[in-house]
Amino acid sequence: MRLLDTLAAHAIPYIPRAAIRKISRRYIAGDTLADAVTRVRVLNNLGFSTTLDVLGKTVSTLAQADRMADEYIDVLDAIQANGLSAGISIKPSALGLMLDAQQCERLVDRILDSAGRHQTIVCIDMEDVTCTQKEIDLFRSVTARHGNVGLALQAYLRRTYEDIGPLLHERNTLRICKGIHVEDRSHLVDGAWNDRRAINTHFLSHVSRCLETGTLVGIATHDTQLVDQIIALARDMGVDNTKFEFQMLLGVCEPLRDRLLGLGFNVRIYVPYGRDWYGYSTRRLKENPAIAGHVLRALTGL
Ligand SMILES: Cc1cc2nc3c(=O)[nH]c(=O)nc-3n(C[C@H](O)[C@H](O)[C@H](O)COP(=O)(O)OP(=O)(O)OC[C@H]3O[C@@H](n4cnc5c(N)ncnc54)[C@H](O)[C@@H]3O)c2cc1C
Repeated sequence: MRLLDTLAAHAIPYIPRAAIRKISRRYIAGDTLADAVTRVRVLNNLGFSTTLDVLGKTVSTLAQADRMADEYIDVLDAIQANGLSAGISIKPSALGLMLDAQQCERLVDRILDSAGRHQTIVCIDMEDVTCTQKEIDLFRSVTARHGNVGLALQAYLRRTYEDIGPLLHERNTLRICKGIHVEDRSHLVDGAWNDRRAINTHFLSHVSRCLETGTLVGIATHDTQLVDQIIALARDMGVDNTKFEFQMLLGVCEPLRDRLLGLGFNVRIYVPYGRDWYGYSTRRLKENPAIAGHVLRALTGL
């Protein structure tokens, strides 16, 4: 199966754009904010909360970063105007983190001021390892001024054991995910470079520390075995369902998300939208050969 995934990742440039577009419709709400609002409404009516994600990539000028901040604020306004059960996710690299960290923080402050007025939660996505320390520093700095902000941490990184300690607090919100980026093996927990399951023990350990300390935790995974282990862990610890939620990507493993909702758990769906659908889809595919394999299987019926 892994060979097929690797082949699929190499075949991406040869997959017709129209085919990527067709596949992306399942995973991306559409090109516009109006498309995203429509999709969120459907999900809300089914009982899911959501996180809106404006597709974007690392910017090369501060003017682009400024425009990105405006776009995030438009999303917050739309959430408020349409009474949606939704938060937003932001990518600091799209807000100029790698160009000027102080200016990026000012933009994040602007976004958080607006989110605070709407009582909306903003989660800072965790990007590749060149951003990790900067994003943790950014989170710690803005949490001194704002209460409506969360941070994603990646279980595939060895350093997360140290990073998470100072962030555990009942006022903080963390999202634990396995991690999507292709990183140098030296940063990863043992086995993670070639076996996604090898990350699970570490994922569980981080979630357990969040639950112990009352830190609100988003459990961002589609791994059924891991989900079942987390449910068992929460039951053993006697933790209330309101102290954590499951988070899944739009269009991925829908039977699992429906089962979790049916069991009475909070489930949040991450809803990307925007014009960069081709870039987003192909980047995700290249970054994670396993996902490329899912797409190839969907295209070919293999
Ligand atoms: C809400 C949310 C937020 C995230 N935020 C971040 C972030 O900030 N930073 C970051 O580095 N990563 C982020 N990720 C990505 C995450 O780190 C993983 O790479 C991704 O979710 C796949 O890992 P998994 O835990 O589902 O487990 P895996 O072991 O990779 O996958 C388990 C199973 O899930 C299914 N599956 C997984 N992904 C897909 C897919 N795209 N299409 C179809 N089936 C799939 C497959 O059946 C697979 O066997 C986020 C993921 C989610 C759900």
